[in-house]
Amino acid sequence: MKIAILPGDGIGPEIMAQARRVLDVLDLRFEFEEAAVGGAAYDAHGHPLPEATLALAQAADAVLFGAVGDWKYDMLERALRPEQAILGLRRSLGLFANFRPAICYEQLTHASSLKPELVAGLDILIIRELTGDIYFGQPRGRRTSPDGAFAGAPEAFDTMRYTRPEVERIARVAFEAARKRAKRLTSVDKANVLETSQFWRDAVVAVHADYPDVQLDHMYVDNAAMQLVKEPKRFDVVVTGNMFGDILSDEAAMLTGSIGMLPSASLNASGKGLYEPSHGSAPDIAGKNAANPLATILSAAMMLRYSLDQAEAAARIESAVQHVLASGLRTADIWSAGTTKVGTVEMGDAVVAALGGTTKKAIKS
Ligand code: NAD
Repeated sequence: MKIAILPGDGIGPEIMAQARRVLDVLDLRFEFEEAAVGGAAYDAHGHPLPEATLALAQAADAVLFGAVGDWKYDMLERALRPEQAILGLRRSLGLFANFRPAICYEQLTHASSLKPELVAGLDILIIRELTGDIYFGQPRGRRTSPDGAFAGAPEAFDTMRYTRPEVERIARVAFEAARKRAKRLTSVDKANVLETSQFWRDAVVAVHADYPDVQLDHMYVDNAAMQLVKEPKRFDVVVTGNMFGDILSDEAAMLTGSIGMLPSASLNASGKGLYEPSHGSAPDIAGKNAANPLATILSAAMMLRYSLDQAEAAARIESAVQHVLASGLRTADIWSAGTTKVGTVEMGDAVVAALGGTTKKAIKS
């Protein structure tokens, strides 16, 4: 099993180092190969997604990705900015299905901005279509407004569009995922206003015929945003388009308290995936041994489950993380009175130890 390791920028290399240690301790046969991506790749090779990095990602069975970005690259033209590497990888690998679980661990309910009783036991899976919609639709651009009340004024425009096969394939992925969980799927759209959304809804309803055991309902995106903070536990699996999913998955992430806890997976039609924490490169805490590595470690677990057919090893990692949280260890982002604050490396040590591995400290002594 060949795994491409792309640490990236900011806290990327620090959190990736801990995920690597956790994978190493599992005693599975992995071949790791590392390459630069994002700002680090721009600095070294003049491009955020160099050809060699893309070739490695294409050849690997799965890609484990840290995070990219730093404010110092903000002045670069858009095509050279670190974040373009993510878009390039999604496009080239055909990663159309983004899985974002939002799980509120029992020990962390206080970290949520919602009342504990609303989030205790929360376990939602948001599935976002990742390669279509208004983010990629053409035409887009700036021009002189051709009509309307402000004809002749400068304007900008983007195009929201989906083809039927694009909606059907993400709907199938979502129904399959719901089947493995509580068998409830909510499709989120804005069908009362948008033609694209009505089209989306029609396609999802048609696919539902193949999944009669899954309960399907539809919700407008504004209501979904409201329900996520009012009664989040009503959801099991949510499927939605690229833009609505972008916004709702971040909202759902915050229900759980810290973005430092949340993994994600982006899959293509053959099950190959790119796995990354839901957060960014956190330049404000980079190099301080302060980042929470658990989102990356849990992303590695998702990689084992969804791309490498190692569900048992994935479950071992997830229960090791639960064990470490139960023992009271916390990085700064999830710390609260009565728990023990630790750094990135120490959190990695604890997960490795919970898996029965040797920690760095033990090696030293
Ligand atoms: P961010 O997610 O990097 O950070 C937001 C806040 O969360 C910061 O206070 C940060 O310290 C904290 N945080 C994030 N991850 C954490 C972790 N593991 N442990 C503890 N605290 C953590 O978002 P931002 O500040 O808006 O963006 C910073 C850079 O990251 C930008 O250049 C942005 O473009 C980029 N970014 C990259 C990705 C990606 O690589 N997939 C995603 C989002 C943002």
